[in-house]
Amino acid sequence: MFPPPPALGHLENRHDTGPAALQAPNPHLTAEELAHLRHQLLHLRQRLIDEIARLESKAIGWERPGPSVRASSCGSMSAANQEAWEQLLAREAVANKRSLCREVDQALARMANQTYGICVANHELIPKSHLVEIPWTRYCAACEPRGGWSAV
Ligand SMILES: [Zn+2]
Repeated sequence: MFPPPPALGHLENRHDTGPAALQAPNPHLTAEELAHLRHQLLHLRQRLIDEIARLESKAIGWERPGPSVRASSCGSMSAANQEAWEQLLAREAVANKRSLCREVDQALARMANQTYGICVANHELIPKSHLVEIPWTRYCAACEPRGGWSAV
């Protein structure tokens, strides 16, 4: 008989500071749920870093101003305009991903200093359902800016 394998999340969190550090002041969250959210945030963070690197290598040269983008005709965009568009989109995607990455970093920092799950605006507890939906959120639903991160 072999003992059952440990849960994946447990294994992957082994290098972290340990379960003692994973305590939220938010009573909605158990240590297990917090560990799960933390795992998701770490995973998302790595994905964002990878995507930023990929987008930046794809858009090499976009620091120098490209040809101006003109959308005068919808059907026949010139190759130069097409390239300018793609550089523009890549630049915006990188900016968005960097912002999100910062949010994720800050959420991880709040977990470390045990303020995770508390709204930074009115210090209300953020409902678990909201944290599960947007693990990096720092606002409760009442304080969430209009069009929040879901619009990114
Ligand atoms: Zn709030």
